Amino acid sequence: MNENLVLVVEDEPSVGEIVSLYLRRAGFQVEVIDDGQKALQWLKQNEPTLVVLDLMLPGADGWEITRQMRARNDTPIIMLTARREEMDRIAGLEMGADDYLTKPFSPQELVSRVRAVLRRTRPVAPAESETKTMSFGKLVIDIQARRVLLDGEEKTLTAKEFDLLLHLARHPRQVFSRDQLLERIWGESDYIDPGTVTVHIRRLREKIENDPAAPVHLQTVWGVGYRFEP
Ligand code: CA
Repeated sequence: MNENLVLVVEDEPSVGEIVSLYLRRAGFQVEVIDDGQKALQWLKQNEPTLVVLDLMLPGADGWEITRQMRARNDTPIIMLTARREEMDRIAGLEMGADDYLTKPFSPQELVSRVRAVLRRTRPVAPAESETKTMSFGKLVIDIQARRVLLDGEEKTLTAKEFDLLLHLARHPRQVFSRDQLLERIWGESDYIDPGTVTVHIRRLREKIENDPAAPVHLQTVWGVGYRFEP
């Protein structure tokens, strides 16, 4: 499977273009196909990570494509529908799509939904889920008990502080922007201010760094974001 490839099946060129633009900007590779039969053919040779599917299409409609896809695998599907009534039909038929959007929709909203569906459906790597504790010098993260110890002393973290620390520690040295951290830790809450991340990082430093002003683990990458130095 190509983890980064999204298929967009959409026969309205303007919608296909804008959706593809936003998905590319979000880091996905995008294939746009404007005909249902062609999409089915393409799907026989390619394994995208997710499919954005318009309901009313020439060739084969969204129902038919979903039916044929579901007969083969669980590739996530986000359906686009033009009318409210179609939404009701979807709900009734439970066709096997993972999410729906009614047109007109904001392309940014679609990107959020794509990420949310992928978060929900992608399995956690076994190696990661089996790890119970992580140690970085004097800092110990007990994943199962959700406890953090510094120099043997337990530090009390809020749920979000813990999630944030764990996410960074699981991706050592990888730089995350505040927006990426918001997206991954706070999820769907688009209305949360990116400054929230800054505040949480500061509080975390006060708890897990011997000298919060000169952090060893939670480092700022100026103009970009934050990274965890093991
Ligand atoms: Ca259409």
